[in-house]
Amino acid sequence: MAKYLVIVESPAKAKTIKRYLGSNYTVKASMGHVIDLPKSQMGVDVEHDYEPKYITIRGKGPVLKELKTAAKKAQKIYLAADPDREGEAIAWHLAKALGVDESTECRVVFNEITKDAIKDSFKRPRKINYDLVDAQQARRILDRLVGYSMSPLLWKKIKKGLSAGRVQSVAVKMIIDREQEINAFLPEEYWTIKLELDANGEKLEANFYGIDGKKRELHSEEEVNEVLAKLSESFTVDSVTKKERRRNPALPFTTSSLQQEAARKLNFRAKKTMMIAQQLYEGIELGKEGTVGLITYMRTDSTRTSETANIEAQGFIENAYGKEYIAVEKRKEKKAANSQDAHEAVRPTSTMRDPQLVKSYLSRDQFRLYKLIWERFVASQMAPAVLDTVKVDLVSNDVMFRANGSTVKFAGFMKVYIEDTDDETVTDVKDGLLPPLEDGEVLEQEMIEPKQHFTQPPPRYTEARLVRAMEELGIGRPSTYAPTLDTIQKRGYVTLEEKKFLPTELGELVIDMISDYFQEFITVQFTADMEALLDAIEKGDMQWTEVVDPIYKSFEKRLTRAEAEIEKIEIKDEPAGEDCEVCGHAMVIKMGRYGKFMACSNFPECRNTKPIQVEIGVKCPTCGTGEIVERRSKKGRLFYGCSNYPECEFVSWDKPVEEPCPVCSSMMVQKKIKNGVKVECTSCGHHETRIDQEQEEE
Ligand SMILES: [Zn+2]
Ligand SMILES: [Zn+2]
Ligand SMILES: [Zn+2]
Repeated sequence: MAKYLVIVESPAKAKTIKRYLGSNYTVKASMGHVIDLPKSQMGVDVEHDYEPKYITIRGKGPVLKELKTAAKKAQKIYLAADPDREGEAIAWHLAKALGVDESTECRVVFNEITKDAIKDSFKRPRKINYDLVDAQQARRILDRLVGYSMSPLLWKKIKKGLSAGRVQSVAVKMIIDREQEINAFLPEEYWTIKLELDANGEKLEANFYGIDGKKRELHSEEEVNEVLAKLSESFTVDSVTKKERRRNPALPFTTSSLQQEAARKLNFRAKKTMMIAQQLYEGIELGKEGTVGLITYMRTDSTRTSETANIEAQGFIENAYGKEYIAVEKRKEKKAANSQDAHEAVRPTSTMRDPQLVKSYLSRDQFRLYKLIWERFVASQMAPAVLDTVKVDLVSNDVMFRANGSTVKFAGFMKVYIEDTDDETVTDVKDGLLPPLEDGEVLEQEMIEPKQHFTQPPPRYTEARLVRAMEELGIGRPSTYAPTLDTIQKRGYVTLEEKKFLPTELGELVIDMISDYFQEFITVQFTADMEALLDAIEKGDMQWTEVVDPIYKSFEKRLTRAEAEIEKIEIKDEPAGEDCEVCGHAMVIKMGRYGKFMACSNFPECRNTKPIQVEIGVKCPTCGTGEIVERRSKKGRLFYGCSNYPECEFVSWDKPVEEPCPVCSSMMVQKKIKNGVKVECTSCGHHETRIDQEQEEE
């Protein structure tokens, strides 16, 4: 008969732990939180110190009953939920519900589910940490107060069923702000000049650098022509500079960097990364070895790794690659300003479990994520790479061109793993070898090619970029990045188009309304400060009610004002100016998730709808009879099509212009640039830059 009862969150975790503890222990799963605020009401007594009303979560009754029965039989109960705020709150709720004596050491925590870690943690149980519990309560209660007050306001003023959350609203706002930046962006013209030279039979490629040894930017074709006019056919090698550059490996994964890199390298959504990481953490059946947790706890903002793990990795590196590949210098761990505690980074529980060795026990996705985590950690314990870089300056009549090259002298960590980047302009190791050259050597020009470019607007957020931005700004915590991204999509406030976030009209409407009255509440600063206050509660520096009270008081004032002042936003139907071809009633213009469309006013009897056709005054170049009209893709993106669709299938993302190309008579399209528009032929490459009429008249 088992003497001890251990309670964890999930059956997979229970199964792994059971193996290490032996027959004196029964291990049961609570299936996450068992007790929470009620769904049907606010559940927070604002008049009495924000006293929360906790109830058993609907559907969790049988689980709790089973735990109670097991608890009665047990001599001692150990609460072994995950090592963070949420886990601590689960442990506390269970202690209350099962009548565990809270003055005893009933809580065990471990950062990885391996034999040593589990045995060790059961030797050092501790009391429940009420600071952690309070930090969780404060967050939960604030989110509840804000969410449950704001949602009815949205129902009354905009549309039934809407909801708004604290962190989610800020994330949506960031996406909207980025979209506005993109719309306001005016591209600037710039030019590059590429030069190819014959270097004793080998090709050397260089780019325009400057004049008289000074860097110069080229903004127009005239400037380019001035430079070209100065050049002669031959170039003199002005200088050859060789340098050695070291490159350090990336630090081991935090939750945020793991989500970003899994998005870039494996194409995983943040939610998927967390789900698979949890499987790896809770335990994988490895044949004879039994069930083992393959990685440490996946919710963390620390890049620290334990000395034991580092030593094991270094042994592996020495064996596999040689002693010179081990990192000599200990690198500083990057700690976020608001880093939660002494957690470890996400790393393999043992470097010796080479991904290839466990591959047959893992699903394809589990294997790919495990391999990524394993390689990132091993690389982090390896020596920097050493690159030999060469810079060659070439001169022709004071005009300077520059060629860059680099070769890997010592691969170091790059043998195992190189971090990806979102920034497409980073070339770094991609430069190749340059032919050997001497100062004063004269080379002949083989080809010269000027090229026009335009600066690009800031990029839309991908999931990876949004997670990085949220982390940098201090919004959210490891446990909230993935759920936040998920929620804003589910609520229809943003959509992912080609993996990039776009706000919907609904999202803009809701954030607009919130901004007017709760401006401060959805600023990045407020949200980051809020997280810092929660951290202060966790450290025991503040009482949770001290944090909740002033925030709620100021929120409530605004709420009262908003309820009184905001007029109902009628999403009202304007007449479309034509009649339904099905039933003859008037058509009206309605607002849908992706913009406006026409629908029959006789709805629901008649369900006829059709897209709105905005003519831009250009005849279709394909069929010659249709008008070019604005349309929206299924995802909401604006494009141009023919009014004769589906008979004519002409489409274009760029706006067609009226006059045909003066060179080949094909259709031309326009692109906005700074101070004007660029008009481009769709077939021959002819283009013109036009000054903005409106600006000229001013
Ligand atoms: Zn109709
Ligand atoms: Zn057409
Ligand atoms: Zn043309």
